[in-house]
Amino acid sequence: MRHDESVPPTPRRPVLLAAAAALMCLGLAGCGGGDGTAQARPGPSATGAITPSAAPAPPSPSRSPSPSPSRTSASPSASPAKPPPAPSGPLSGRTVVIDPGHNPRNHLHTAEINRQVDIGTGHKECDTTGTATNGGYAEAEFTLDVSHRLRTLLRAQGATVILTYDGDREFGPCVDERARIGNKAHADAVVSIHADGSAVGNRGFHVILPASVRGGGADTSKIVAASRDLGTRIAGLFVRSTGSSPSNYVGGNTGLDVRKDLGGLNLSTVPKVFIECGNMRDPEDAAQLTSAGWRQKAAQGIADGISSYLEG
Ligand SMILES: [Zn+2]
Repeated sequence: MRHDESVPPTPRRPVLLAAAAALMCLGLAGCGGGDGTAQARPGPSATGAITPSAAPAPPSPSRSPSPSPSRTSASPSASPAKPPPAPSGPLSGRTVVIDPGHNPRNHLHTAEINRQVDIGTGHKECDTTGTATNGGYAEAEFTLDVSHRLRTLLRAQGATVILTYDGDREFGPCVDERARIGNKAHADAVVSIHADGSAVGNRGFHVILPASVRGGGADTSKIVAASRDLGTRIAGLFVRSTGSSPSNYVGGNTGLDVRKDLGGLNLSTVPKVFIECGNMRDPEDAAQLTSAGWRQKAAQGIADGISSYLEG
């Protein structure tokens, strides 16, 4: 969500959790409901009917005989171990890091996510819970779903894709670690996926660009221009793919905002933007965000923007 607001969450269930989440709404990476029932509620499409068909299969032990059985079963004709398929396509050789905002289980780890981390220009919470629709669809579920769809689309074009987390940890990562993952990967582009939690009537998406900041371990001077290029392309192609309008409450209808208070941007040494895909608290936006079909369009728009940027 908007990462600096304390919008009272109003999820219809776990009241106690919602109250706890509200207490956690302290800043940086969003706040709000994050009612964290994600584990028990995979969501309308979960990781998507789309993902499996298009995603390159992970190295599969079943594709070739495992070394020990083949050795003992005298099968010299067994096909030689196939090298991993070389990515081919227009994004071959390029690395994209996708950062699914928040974590559905952050609310269960308040001490950990409230821990202050160094963002160069100051200190912020490790992470926040994220927001949710009034119907209880958590932002952290949304971000992971869109990230999976986006990964599939980018891999299909040959890109190497890394997620900062993939539902494989109990909380976080912290915002500083999210930034470091992109840095260590020497990513050509990084996109952090979010949805906002603002007032009813506030609609549309916006892309957040890093401001030029310097302090401690933060120095964005080398990524500001490239990130603006990346973000501008994503915004334009997100409009084309989804038909959504740029935010009517942030960025003066440009679909672009510039922030100097986000650790995930301040600590990045590679081109990086955030995208708030819509406002989960607005019923009309929420209807889109909870639609698997719309999320696919959103992922497509982001993928198109990244492709446009990487291909120049
Ligand atoms: Zn968020």
